[in-house]
Amino acid sequence: MRYDTRCPCSDCDHETNHNHTDEAEWYMVYDHVWEEALKHGPAQYLCIGCLEERLRRKLTFADFNDLIPVNFMPEHFSPSKRLQGRMAGLVFDEAAYRLKHGI
Ligand SMILES: [Zn+2]
Repeated sequence: MRYDTRCPCSDCDHETNHNHTDEAEWYMVYDHVWEEALKHGPAQYLCIGCLEERLRRKLTFADFNDLIPVNFMPEHFSPSKRLQGRMAGLVFDEAAYRLKHGI
């Protein structure tokens, strides 16, 4: 069942939630990356373009959390081309994930 939650980018209104767009930018970056972005103002969601503008640099796979399953469900989340590009090379650290969650 799909839930009806729109998640517009806080800076440009681009819809980030895969339930409402085929160009989703649904992801989680590491806390230190997000905290850097929040120095430029509050945000609940940011599209890739606005996050990069706040950081003044292009994201790489090293910015995306390798322990968060949401970063590894590309077909289900209909990611935009630019999100796919930035995440290219990201590898899910399953061993660390299992250790962290005791499974
Ligand atoms: Zn945006």
